[in-house]
Amino acid sequence: MLKIKDLGEFGFINRLNPKETVTGLKLGIGDDAAVISPPEGFDVVITTDMLMEGKHFLSDTNPYAIGYRSMCANLSDIAAMGAIPKFYFISLGIDPERDFDYVENIYNGLNSLALQFDTHLAGGDTIKSEKTVLSITLIGYVEKSMAIKREGKIEAKDLIVYIGPLGYSGAGLEVIKNKIDGFDEQVEAFLYPYPQVIAGRILLQSKIVRVMMDNSDGLSNCIENLIIKNGFGALLFEKQIFDERLDAIAEATNKDYLDFVFNGGEDFGLVAVVEKDGFLDLTYFLERALFDSKVKVIGEVIEGEKIVLKRLNDSFLVIEKSGYVQF
Ligand code: ADP
Ligand code: MG
Repeated sequence: MLKIKDLGEFGFINRLNPKETVTGLKLGIGDDAAVISPPEGFDVVITTDMLMEGKHFLSDTNPYAIGYRSMCANLSDIAAMGAIPKFYFISLGIDPERDFDYVENIYNGLNSLALQFDTHLAGGDTIKSEKTVLSITLIGYVEKSMAIKREGKIEAKDLIVYIGPLGYSGAGLEVIKNKIDGFDEQVEAFLYPYPQVIAGRILLQSKIVRVMMDNSDGLSNCIENLIIKNGFGALLFEKQIFDERLDAIAEATNKDYLDFVFNGGEDFGLVAVVEKDGFLDLTYFLERALFDSKVKVIGEVIEGEKIVLKRLNDSFLVIEKSGYVQF
């Protein structure tokens, strides 16, 4: 097996350089810095995400999956702004004793997702490190002053919309941990989540979105950020949230399925508060453009800073803000 240390720094970078020409990238890998030329009329959007061996993945975790997940987290952040992803940079800490294959598979995982969204490697930095550390910076564009933020003016009766799987990632992790058979969709959602870039673009262009974020820490955290912090409350409908598969996994693992929904992490769906008028038309477009991604109105904005869930039996449950917070 070819080891990283056998390649030398130049050989190493040279092997990872995609060497393709990409529109907007005036200068890519090989010089002191990259030169990017953004299209006129657009702002530049930048996000970064860091993963560390021992904290976010184990030393024997499939490197392809590490790359994939890292790219997904970045693309999802760009999606949550309604922006177009474009270029990415890698900061990599790696043990030179590792097989080159290992790094190549991280890059393959990154690219498997990045290239689906016309997003290209434009540079990076490499250091020796006993533990693998991976930090991806993603650069994108959004129409000038149009980026969709978390903070904004919302109103009672606005709709709370969710796009993507809800609670599946957390449930999928439980399925893996407990070695339960027959929940492939949830396991897939955990291992290979999908960033809602296209939905983000459609939502931005609809101009009816007031605030938006991606769901990487559970629904409680999203509602807290998008609604409570903007001075309102949320009435959520269990009818729109309930999922028999989640409930079955919860039962098999002695949990409450609502825990997957409200406190589960890393679903990478989009949560948006939208104006009520106009959303029905938008749903039509979204569902056609997104293939199998679910688009759901999960609730509405109410007066009073609390989160209330209307249960299937019409009773009400107050959800405390205990969203899964890292650290
Ligand atoms: P410097 O010494 O100026 O930091 P480097 O030798 O680190 O330069 O980088 C040279 C070129 O290789 C730069 O274009 C940089 O973006 C790119 N590069 C460095 N490490 C990586 C990496 N792990 N993946 C992709 N490109 C990289
Ligand atoms: Mg360097």
